Amino acid sequence: MVCFSGGQDSTTCLFWALKHFEEVETVCFAYGQNHSLEIEQARGIAADAGVPFRLLDVSLLGQLAPNSLTDASIKMDQEKPADSYPNTFVPGRNMVFLTFAAIVARNKGIFHLVTGVSEADFSGYPDCRDTFIRSLNTTLNLAMDEQFVIHTPLMDKDKSEVWRMSDELGVFDLVRTRTLTCYNGIIADGCGHCPACKLRREGLEKYLNTK
Ligand code: ZN
Repeated sequence: MVCFSGGQDSTTCLFWALKHFEEVETVCFAYGQNHSLEIEQARGIAADAGVPFRLLDVSLLGQLAPNSLTDASIKMDQEKPADSYPNTFVPGRNMVFLTFAAIVARNKGIFHLVTGVSEADFSGYPDCRDTFIRSLNTTLNLAMDEQFVIHTPLMDKDKSEVWRMSDELGVFDLVRTRTLTCYNGIIADGCGHCPACKLRREGLEKYLNTK
């Protein structure tokens, strides 16, 4: 069960999962994000990959704590503040996503969960760290008396290495042209100036230069 958002990272993870597992399903989350286009991109990529796609409405998440991904009136931080997280941080997001994914998966007899979180990501979101993932894995197992395995194939990879992985999986062009990572909701190379586009572009340039 892949937590799938239609962005670069989770799309790379989807094809990683297709390489490693015979059957793959996806779950996507509507959490009140400003740009619902990413959900449509995810739906289309899943359809073309021939994998089931389930959209879960967790829009309450976006309403509970102010952040610039779900509230268009909040001006997005362009850099990480020295003593806190940028306002693109959605508190609890990965915990909620993985918990709901585990509930859906268990009901289908699926115990392998895949998420595209990366510790090497610039913002240092706490729910992208390996410590958190291992902790939640234990909690899910205890909560449901099951043996889930949360896979994080991108955990130690920076963006250039994620580009390399998509290339090795044969989906470099698909990831480049169809995924939506941009905080301003523009597909592929994006707006070019938001933090997500900057990270994606710098990673791409680094990969193409070292290839
Ligand atoms: Zn952008």
